[in-house]
Amino acid sequence: MRVRHKPWAKGKLEAHPKIVVPNPKLCSGEWYEVFGREAPLHVEIGTGKGQFITEMAKRHPEFDFVGIELNESIIVTALDKCIEAEIPNLRLIHADAHLLTDFFAENEVDYIYLNFCDPWPKNKHEKRRLTYASFLAQYEYVLKDEGIIQLKTDNQGFFEYSLESLSSYGLKLKDISLDLHQAHDPKNVPTEYEEKFAEKGQRIYRCRAVCSE
Ligand code: SAM
Repeated sequence: MRVRHKPWAKGKLEAHPKIVVPNPKLCSGEWYEVFGREAPLHVEIGTGKGQFITEMAKRHPEFDFVGIELNESIIVTALDKCIEAEIPNLRLIHADAHLLTDFFAENEVDYIYLNFCDPWPKNKHEKRRLTYASFLAQYEYVLKDEGIIQLKTDNQGFFEYSLESLSSYGLKLKDISLDLHQAHDPKNVPTEYEEKFAEKGQRIYRCRAVCSE
């Protein structure tokens, strides 16, 4: 995602510590304290401008949501959406998802969303793909038994790679869709990228993988 650098973004993120968690490592194992209740915890990696996670949090007040995004000039738009909508069950982390196991304890998370993540098509960049085995090991660690990883993408090559990677890792695949929008699922919450690609007539792929011991 190419976005104009916003030199003021860092200051704005720091000015909203109730939404953008200042030191997420301190929350590991204690997200229930951050939200002030015990509720299933859903995490989106690469939240972008926040359309998906803010809508999910509004639709599902029974769950708590955390969005992780690396780029401060992008996550600041997600912050604006949170400020405007005053969503109590949503927090943001401005960080690299490589640190996932620092932010969440073993068996703390119920659901992980990977939406339109960078496909890194060159073989030499395989380790950067968010469905590479080292990332799956982190997801497995933080997810509860029967926890779910949901992937959506427009990129057929990345989708095929991910199905293979998830399956080889030993995760159980389900709900595979090769054309998600054809099904008109009212429960599907589109992301910014998803809307853009779907408008161009591109297929959207989706799958879920279950972590079981
Ligand atoms: N999920 C959004 C959507 O579907 O509209 C944004 C998709 S965009 C292609 C991928 C996003 O993931 C970018 O905003 C990028 O900065 C973020 N990202 C990539 N690698 C990341 C990482 N290791 N940790 C956190 N965010 C990451």
